[in-house]
Amino acid sequence: MNEKQLSAWRERLIALRDGWRHELRERADAIAQQVRSLESSGIPTHPADHDSEGVEKEVEIARSERAVYDQVQAALERINAGRFGTCEECGKEISQERLDAVPYASRCASCATSRGP
Ligand SMILES: [Zn+2]
Repeated sequence: MNEKQLSAWRERLIALRDGWRHELRERADAIAQQVRSLESSGIPTHPADHDSEGVEKEVEIARSERAVYDQVQAALERINAGRFGTCEECGKEISQERLDAVPYASRCASCATSRGP
């Protein structure tokens, strides 16, 4: 991968990261608000309770989104380290198609399918 391609990926990842950052902040605020309103409502927050279940789900979603954010961040670090586009598992080049679909992929398609994403 040449310098020009790398800087294009860097820009794309930064845009992705900043988008996530905004999204994560909004979601964290929404969750905090929901938790506050549940607490002030005086309704006991039992796991089976419908509202608290909604919050649990929100937290779960936020957690997986946070994981994507971390992966984007890691991909940017790989660009800086000169390892972007190379599979961390087998050292082969990650295909352009795969990077197009998952710009923060750290493994090639065959390693990801054999060992999970
Ligand atoms: Zn591989």
